[in-house]
Amino acid sequence: EIELRGIEKRYGEAPVLKDVSLKIKDGEFLTLVGPSGCGKSTLLRIIAGLEDQDAGEVSVGGRPVDGARPKDRDVAMVFQSYALYPHLTVFDNIALPLRTRQLSFAQRLPLIGPLLPGHTGIERSIRKEVEQAAAMLDVAHLLHRKPGQLSGGQRQRVALGRAMVRHPTVFLMDEPLSNLDARLRVQMRTEITSLHRRLGVTFVYVTHDQSEAMTMADRVAVMMGGELLQVGPPEELYREPQDLRVAEMIGSPK
Ligand code: ATP
Ligand code: MG
Repeated sequence: EIELRGIEKRYGEAPVLKDVSLKIKDGEFLTLVGPSGCGKSTLLRIIAGLEDQDAGEVSVGGRPVDGARPKDRDVAMVFQSYALYPHLTVFDNIALPLRTRQLSFAQRLPLIGPLLPGHTGIERSIRKEVEQAAAMLDVAHLLHRKPGQLSGGQRQRVALGRAMVRHPTVFLMDEPLSNLDARLRVQMRTEITSLHRRLGVTFVYVTHDQSEAMTMADRVAVMMGGELLQVGPPEELYREPQDLRVAEMIGSPK
C-alpha cells in the first residue's frame, strides 16, 4: 500500500499540490484524472521519488520513504513520450534496467567483469526476462529493430516491457497512450487492463481523458487545481459526485 499524507508542492510562489492525501491499495488499478496543469504528473513524480514534496509524507508498505531515491522504491514509471533510446535495439531498450542493475558491480570491475564465470549466466537470465516480457506484449518479433522502425503502439509496448522486467510492485503511468491515434488508444486500454490483471500488481495511471479514467479503473481519483476532489470506484463517482466539478468532469447528470 502507498499512502500520501498532506502532500504540498509549489514551484516558486505557485502552489501546485495542496494537501493531497490518498491511499493506493495493493493490486488496484487507480486512475488519476484531471485537466491539463492540475498537478497529475507532479504527484506521480513525487510517488516515484523523482521529485521531492515541500510538505507531507509518502509511505510505501507502512514505511515513510521521504528522501528515498527512485531506485529504492519498488516502482517503475512509463511515460507518454516512451523515453526509448533511439540508437539501441528493442532488445537492449527492454534490457536496460536489468543491465544498469548490474552496473555497480561492473563498475567496480570494469575489465574483468565480463570474464567472470557469472557473466554468461547473467546475460542468459537477461535474455530470458526480455523474451518473456516481449512475448507477453506481442513484440517478440521486433527485438532486433530500433525504436524509429516501430509504430506508436509498438513503442508504447516496448516502454511497458522495459518497466516489466524490473518486476515492480507498482507501475506508474503518465498518459502512456496520449501519443496514439484514437483507435489504437482504445485497443491499448484493453491491453493495459489485461496486463494489470495478469501481473496482479498496483497500477497508477494518469490521464486527462475521463472515459479512459472511468473505463480502466478500479478507483478513480479526480484532481483539479492541485486538489483531490474525490476518490472512488467509477460507479460511485458517477452516481454520487461530491462536487459539481466532479459531476461536470465525468459527465454525470447532477
Ligand atoms: P498535463 O495534463 O498537461 O500533463 P499535469 O496535470 O500533469 O498536466 P503538472 O505537469 O503536474 O500538470 O504541472 C502542474 C503545474 O505545475 C502546472 O501549472 C505546471 O506549469 C507547473 N509546473 C510543473 N513542473 C514545473 C517546473 N519544473 N517548474 C515550474 N512549474 C512547473
Ligand atoms: Mg502531465
